[in-house]
Amino acid sequence: RVVSAANATPQEEALERALRPKLLDEYVGQAKAREQLEIFIGAARKRAEALDHVLLFGPPGLGKTTLSHIIAAELGVNLRQTSGPVLEKPKDLAAILTNLEKNDVLFIDEIHRLSPIVEEILYPALEDYQIDIMIGEGPAARSIKLDLQPFTLVGATTRAGMLTNPLRDRFGIVARLEFYSPEELARIVKRSAGLLGAPIDPAGAMEVARRSRGTPRIANRLLRRVRDYAEVKGDGRITRKIADAALKMLDVDPVGFDLMDRKLLEAVVLRFDGGPVGLDNVAAAIGEEPGTIEDVIEPYLIQQGFLQRTPRGRVATLMAWRHLGVTPPQRGGA
Ligand code: ADP
Repeated sequence: RVVSAANATPQEEALERALRPKLLDEYVGQAKAREQLEIFIGAARKRAEALDHVLLFGPPGLGKTTLSHIIAAELGVNLRQTSGPVLEKPKDLAAILTNLEKNDVLFIDEIHRLSPIVEEILYPALEDYQIDIMIGEGPAARSIKLDLQPFTLVGATTRAGMLTNPLRDRFGIVARLEFYSPEELARIVKRSAGLLGAPIDPAGAMEVARRSRGTPRIANRLLRRVRDYAEVKGDGRITRKIADAALKMLDVDPVGFDLMDRKLLEAVVLRFDGGPVGLDNVAAAIGEEPGTIEDVIEPYLIQQGFLQRTPRGRVATLMAWRHLGVTPPQRGGA
């Protein structure tokens, strides 16, 4: 997917790092999360203590990784970064934990994908800054306790509901990241354009912002492609007209839906008469993983009011029918 929020290539990751705000003040939007963090970070700094463990959740590309780096920077400590699927064995996590310095931040992305045996050694680490590790093998094996430096775990997940209860209970600060408004995204686009040295009109920035699915990662990706278009087809300046033409070429429609969004809406509307239809059936119809639909595609369609998640399955709203230019069937009564 050209504009998907998930799966950045290595080059894209390097570019993303370059565009990442470094401090809380430069972090646009997410007023609620920012306010909470400002207070708790300030207090932790004053007392020279480790910040409480932080859980960040929300769809990909909304700024969880960025925020974890900012938390470490604002605390003035090191950040160690890893992810749930990478930590295969308890000793992988133990090695990281025992190397943390006082009050460091450990960022674990996709924390819902930790294996149960790894998760188990995390509990005492979070609670008492201690781990139990096994030394030796067979009958001679014994468990010893190791003290750790106080540290802060920042966990990120696309859905808080996928965490086990004991893990979720160990986070003192829980912040849900929301989709960004077009105005907020326009600020991000202007800032990124500045960093990239790309001249952009306010209306050009707004056009990219409006069509970025509420997601900074997508806004930055679209901006780079629109810039290419402006350089080849225009004089380099990103105007509303140039942005519109470039986005059309990229199959980003006027409300910002991409090919996968439309494929999903079309499947629900045209193949399943608007639903309700179960997730697995939709997934099979469009050839996409159910997990990707739930984490990446659906949240924005639901937030925008085009799709509903009901106990009986997904239902397309009237807006979805109209968006596809299909007349909805008359359903009983009025
Ligand atoms: P996540 O970890 O939630 O998938 P990232 O933190 O990697 O998302 O964010 C993706 C990109 O979006 C980053 O490179 C960053 O440049 C940009 N970004 C995210 N949130 C913000 C924000 N609040 N302000 C400015 N840029 C942001």
